[in-house]
Parts: sequence; structure tokens; C-alpha cells
Amino acid sequence: SGSWEPLYRVVLLGDPGVGKTSLANLFAGVQERDLLEQHGVAAYERTLCVDGEETTLLVMDTWEPEQRGDSWLRNQCLQVGNAYVIVYSITDRGSFESASELRIQLRRARQAEDIPIILVGNKSDLVRRREVSVEEGRACAVVFDCKFIETSAALQHNVAELFEGVVRQIRLRRGGK
Ligand code: GDP
Repeated sequence: SGSWEPLYRVVLLGDPGVGKTSLANLFAGVQERDLLEQHGVAAYERTLCVDGEETTLLVMDTWEPEQRGDSWLRNQCLQVGNAYVIVYSITDRGSFESASELRIQLRRARQAEDIPIILVGNKSDLVRRREVSVEEGRACAVVFDCKFIETSAALQHNVAELFEGVVRQIRLRRGGK
């Protein structure tokens, strides 16, 4: 089209093992992931058509926990996002508690900015191993003042809806001020 189209950086946050890479994979599609991984980049760009309008997202899967990653990189993650997806596993209460800590870190890093945040309870297919109820997730999102969705990367359930939701949250804030 040739028209200028903005790109929005979406950063995935959350404990190791909650499913960030699986969600990023589904967003990217397998072929693109292979290509990008050869170049050592954990960021995936795709243009989504949502409500009849195209928006390009760059999904970044570079978050590392405090014990492993260096603090400079973590701080970069907290600074560069235009939107954040905070992921926990519904089978891991510890990861749910970490999500709260991440929300606090994000608020501290970006102060008064009104950044879209989506809280994601992943692995919703593992019903018998559930440790965090849907109600708890929803209540947490109310406290966080953010959106909430449960997903299953394994069943590809609600994953497209998650990224469409990110686009809608970005648009709600666009040009509003
Ligand atoms: P990350 O460390 O947050 O990037 O998590 P990964 O995407 O590497 O996933 C960790 C493990 O959980 C892998 O074995 C995945 O196959 C598995 N996993 C991820 N999402 C789901 C899900 O929705 N359901 C189930 N059952 N397993 C999942």
C-alpha cells in the first residue's frame, strides 16, 4: 500500500515454563520462526487484520528471570514495550504470584504511562492440574486494571483472540490524548 504503518512492540513477561515461547510460536507461525531463529532473534512480526483494519505487532519473547538474565536486558524489556502480555500457568500458583510482581515492576518502570496489559492464564487444557481458578485470574486483572484471558497454546484455544485483544487495547489508547 505504501502508506506509513506503525509497528507496536508487544513484550511477553512471565516465569519460565508458563508457555511464552509456545504462544509466540503460534503468533509467528512455524516457518517464520525457523527463519528468525537462524538469526538468533526471539521477536516475531506479523500484520493482523482486526475489525477490518491492519495493525503490525512485533512480539518479543526475550524475558528471562532474575536468577538467569542480566538486569540490563530485563530493564530494556520493561522500557520498550507498547503493550505487555503477562503470562502465568493455571497449573502453577507460583507463576500467578510472579505475575503480580511483574505488574508492580512494570508500573515502577513506566510510572504514569497508560500501557495496555493483558493478563494471560495459559494451559487451560490441563483441567485436573489447575491451581488458579478463573475467578482468581479475573479478580487479579481487576486489581491490575488490565484485560484477562485464559488460553491453551497446546489446543490453540484463545490464542488468536489474545493477540486481537492486544491490538484492540493498543487502538483504544491511540490518538486519545
Ligand atoms: P516459556 O518458558 O514460558 O517460554 O514456556 P514454553 O513455551 O517453553 O512452554 C513450557 C512447556 O509447557 C513446554 O513443554 C510446552 O509444550 C508446555 N506448554 C506450553 N503451553 C501449554 C499449554 O497451553 N498446555 C499444555 N498442556 N502445555 C503447554
